[in-house]
Order: sequence, then structure tokens, then C-alpha cells
Amino acid sequence: MRFADHCGFLVWKWELFHVKHFDVIVIGGGHAGVEAVAAAARLGVRTALVTMRLSQTGVMSCNPAIGGVGKGHLVREIDALDGVMARAGDQAGIQYRLLNRSKGPAVQGPRAQMDRKLYKDAIQKMIKNQPNVEMIEGEVIDFLMPNGKVSGVVLADHSEITCSALVLTTGTFLRGVIRIGSEAQEAGRVGDKASVRLAERLASLGVTLGRLKTGTPPRLDGRTIDWERLEPQPGDDDPVMLSFMSGLSPAVRQVACAITHTNQLTHDIIRRDLELSAIYGGYFDSTGPRYCPSIEDKIVRFADKESHQIFLEPEGLDNHIVYPNGISTSLPAATQEEFLRTISGLEQAMILQHGYAIEYDYVDPRSLFPSLEMKAAANLFLAGQINGTTGYEEAAGQGLVAGLNAARRTKGLDSVIFSRAESYIGVMVDDLVTKGVNEPYRMFTSRAEYRLSLRADNADQRLTPFGKEIGIVGKMRMKRFEDKYSDIQNSRRLLQKYSLSPAEAAPHGIVIGKDGGRRSGEKLLEMTGVDMKVLCRIWPDLAEINQESASQIERDAMYSHYLDRQKRDAERLKKEEKRPIPAQVNFANIQGLSNEIQQKLCQIRPQTLGQARRIEGMTPPALALILAASRRAESQSGL
Ligand code: FAD
Repeated sequence: MRFADHCGFLVWKWELFHVKHFDVIVIGGGHAGVEAVAAAARLGVRTALVTMRLSQTGVMSCNPAIGGVGKGHLVREIDALDGVMARAGDQAGIQYRLLNRSKGPAVQGPRAQMDRKLYKDAIQKMIKNQPNVEMIEGEVIDFLMPNGKVSGVVLADHSEITCSALVLTTGTFLRGVIRIGSEAQEAGRVGDKASVRLAERLASLGVTLGRLKTGTPPRLDGRTIDWERLEPQPGDDDPVMLSFMSGLSPAVRQVACAITHTNQLTHDIIRRDLELSAIYGGYFDSTGPRYCPSIEDKIVRFADKESHQIFLEPEGLDNHIVYPNGISTSLPAATQEEFLRTISGLEQAMILQHGYAIEYDYVDPRSLFPSLEMKAAANLFLAGQINGTTGYEEAAGQGLVAGLNAARRTKGLDSVIFSRAESYIGVMVDDLVTKGVNEPYRMFTSRAEYRLSLRADNADQRLTPFGKEIGIVGKMRMKRFEDKYSDIQNSRRLLQKYSLSPAEAAPHGIVIGKDGGRRSGEKLLEMTGVDMKVLCRIWPDLAEINQESASQIERDAMYSHYLDRQKRDAERLKKEEKRPIPAQVNFANIQGLSNEIQQKLCQIRPQTLGQARRIEGMTPPALALILAASRRAESQSGL
């Protein structure tokens, strides 16, 4: 063989047999996957995104919107940790609404409707431009797993890629089956094939898999909707952006939605054909999302309601597709067409894609540690819908946690566990790994014990400095954060310079308890009816405080009475949270625990006392026994 031939042969052989290696591989380019990839790469490790179709990276499978109450809180937290979702959302937002505007800031949730294509494009651009990321198209069918530790993946073409840590974010794809009426088809979502071999491989690890279901409405051709007859729903006049990094106004043209309603005739048709629905006809026996019910569900569960609202949401600026939010269905195609005709404004509406339901495998999240690493397989992290959640935001929040911890593992660093006291991300992960799910889990503000302090508006105060500490927040974000907070601090100082005595306050209509004390401008803001406008009338100098700082100070002041108490409670929780249960504690051997608690402890294997406390059915005496066992284990091991 000549030298040149020999070299060519070697290159060919190298290409054939060389196995690529990455620090972290993320499987799946959905909302969990992209946040995981971006998070790992921000930590500076070599990361690969392996997904079935690269062109579908960042696709929104269902509703074209991001945020809302609870979900908007998660989006802001992801953003505070320098994630991609909110920034991409602000490049694609075509209608902004701050939900619960009339209520207190703690339960206000930013929400934006997306141009689907712009959102997907923005995500893909961000991931492509992210240093340390390689994108690979392929279906993963197996894990490389010598000695119980995951060390890579096998693709459908039998090529192998190795890694030091793996993040699995396969969404609704594991053994996914979609149904319209009695018609069924294996699929991860419409137009995408299901992931069957990987589901079988997961099952072989002995983890508990369950089935969940969800559904989506038909998509309509907007040109066939009679908009004139419908009540328009414009966005907010003063839109609130999703990201702390975005400016004050939307990046693209804004659109209005419209509202219509179902009626008795619609309900009669749906009721008549209930048995033909995939959900009600007995084709699925899994559980669907209680808080995102199908129209069939609504008609059965709220039988006395005469109508249900439908929001007609345009899916983009340069197409005619409309998403009718509120009528998710798995009725046969003919029934979908028939019931639509009964709805005002939709009499002539053309269906572009019928509604459908999907059933898929999920992994019992109690088989994960709070780092989202699987207990049964070291170096394997799981995030997103695979863990029993529903929603883009829930998936993205977990993706960030899993990507971060996978990357830290490769650097030999400890896992980062987000606390319930400091973030909705912490609440969600703790709920999942401690309580598990029996229906698709979505975020609500009521899930958080400390919701007055866990506001969407202060997510950056809560998390950005911490994000810097753990290496996940970049320089640009940190600079923006520091500028914003030095402005707020300066404004606070200015407010503290001014004060009123009770007698001086009275002419301004401000009634202060006559304890003789003066109240600073900042203290006055804590009083009902006093805001920055009132103070600016008293002290015109305060007008120099910019709008962003003024609003932030007002919101902080509104809750200051409660926050001190919450802060103390949260500190106590954090201490308890951090009280570790040594790995040597064998829950099966702790005398005095009920069988039920013992079983749950053995299954969940809580790592801290706080986590043990939240296990359903846990009692104070049982907790005391666990504490005693922990102390014994510590003294035996000389800790
Ligand atoms: P996905 O966004 O599903 O992404 C999974 C990714 O994994 C895809 O990129 C896929 O290609 C990839 N993948 C899968 N298997 C493999 C493999 N073996 N190898 C390589 N890549 C793989 N949410 C709501 O909040 N409300 C709703 O009403 C709602 N309804 C829904 C209805 C339907 C029909 C569907 C499909 C979803 C619905 N959702 C709803 C859920 C929402 O779409 C998901 O919560 C969210 O997309 C989950 O994000 P994820 O990243 O976990 O997974």
C-alpha cells in the first residue's frame, strides 16, 4: 500500500471506529433539552444535543404561549439563571398579558403568546451560537452502561457516542400513541415517530414506568373565522417582557386574539359522541392533566355549565393558523368538524389539523435524586415531561437543573439542589422527587409555601447572584443585574432621606399612627394607598427615580410586613433542608415506623430531613425516629 493510500485508509478507519466523546450528552431538543444543553455549555463543558430531528429543536408541541401564573414564575427563574426560554420568547412574543394584574404581585404571572416559527428559530439560533455545543441528529436507542454507570448512547444507525454524564429529555415520545377517536398511531407527537426502543431499555433498568396522557385542540384556518362577530382580546397596553434582559417593548408586531364560547348545541354533540372519544371511549386508561382538561372532560365534569370560553390565538405573524385554546379534544374528526360549526364565528372554520390525544410512558420521579439523577443509574439525569410534568416551562426548569448538575458531575463538583424556600424550581423538583405524580404535574403558585417572597418580579434578586456563584450566569447578565440593583439601592437611599411626622403626613391624606415616630419615604410606601406617585407629589425630587426601580421598590414595600416572618420560616426550612440523612441509614431497620412510611422511605430514599418531612403521610414521631437514626449513623461513622 502506498503512503497516501495508507493515510486515506487510516482516516477512513478512524472515522468508522472513532467514538466521539462529550462531557455531557443531552437527548431531546424540546424545552427541557435545550435548557439542559445551554446550562451545561454555560458551565464550560463539551456538550452534545442529540435529537431525532434537528429542524424541530425548540418546537412548541401544543399551545403557542409561554408563561402564565406559576409558569411565568418558572420562566423568570430560568431567565434569572441565564436560561434561554424567556429571551427566545421575547424575540417571538406577539401578544403580552400580565395575568392577575388586578391581584398582588406575588400571584401575577407574565405570559406571552408566541409566533411559533420565530420562537423555534430563536431557540435554534441561541443553541447554535452557544460555545461548547454540538448538535447531532439521530435517534438514541440504547445506553452504554458498564458497571451500572451510564457512559454513552447508541444511535439507531448503531454508532456510539460516549459521555461522562447523560441527560434524558424525551417528552411525550416514550412509547407515544396518538389517537383521534378510535384511530391510533404510534407517534411522539403529530408528525414525529415514537421512541420505543429507548422506553424498553429504561424499563430494563427496573425503574417504575407509568402512562400519562394529554391532548391538543384542532388547528383552524384563520381566514375562515368570522372575526367581526367575535369579542377581540388585545394584549396589555404596557406589555411586561418575559426576560429581565429584554427592553421595555416587544420585538415584533403585536396581534389581538378573540374570544368565543361553546353552547348547549356544542355540548349536545360532544355528549352524544363521548363514547367515540379516545379519552372517554376506553381507549386510554391513563390519567390526563386535571388543570388542562379536554372539552369532553369539561362537559362531563362541569355538566351544569352552559358554555365554555375559547380563546382564538393566532400562531404567527405570517401564517393563518389559529389555536383555539380551550377545546382540546380526541373526538373523531367528523365530530370535531360538527361541533365547531355550532360555535359563534367558527361556523365556516376550516380545520387544518384535527385535535388529538397522546398517551406516553413517564418515569416515576421518585426514582430520582433532587439533582434529577436517577438512583438506579449513576450519571443519568432526567428532565421534562418524562418525569410526569406537563408544560414547556416545567420542562425547561427541570432541564436547567439536570444540565447544570450533569455538567457539575463531569467537573467533580457537588450537585446543586434548589430550595423550596428560594424558588419555584426548588418547589417543583422537591414535589416530584418526594411525592411523585399521579396526574401530569403543572406549576401553581399555591404549591409554594413562601409565595409572597417567590415572586416573578424578584426572581433575579433571588437567583442571579446564586447563579453566578454556581457558574451558570454569564457576564452580560450579571452586569445588567448589578446595574439594575445599584439603581434600586440608590433610589432606596434617596427615599430614606425624606421623612414625615404624623402631623406633616396628615395634610397629604396619609394617616400615620401617632407614636411620635417619623416615617421615611420607603416606610410610607408600605402603607395602603401610598405609592411613588403620592410621594413624588410631596417630594418632587423623587421623580428622578426611574420607572423600573420605582415599581420594584413599591412591590417590595407592599409585602415587607409579611416578608420578615416568611424569611424566618424560610431560614428554618433551609436549615432542616440541609440536615442530611447519612447514606448508611437503612430505613427498613428503623424500629417504630409504620409499614407504609417505611416502604415510602425505602423507595424515595430522602437525602435530607426536609425532604423526609414532605413525604405524604409523614408524622412528627416518625421524623423524630429518622433524626435519631441519622444521629446514630453519624456517631458510628465519627461524623
Ligand atoms: P418535548 O418537547 O416533547 O421534546 C422531546 C424531544 O425529545 C423531542 O425533540 C424529540 O425529538 C426528542 N426525542 C425523543 N425521543 C428521542 C430519542 N430516542 N432520541 C433522540 N431524541 C429523542 N403542555 C401544557 O402545558 N398544556 C397542554 O395542554 C399540553 N398539551 C399537549 C398536547 C400534546 C398533544 C402534546 C404532544 C404535548 C402537550 N403539552 C402540553 C406538553 C408540552 O408539549 C410538553 O410539556 C413539553 O413540550 C415537554 O417538553 P420536553 O422537553 O419534556 O419534551
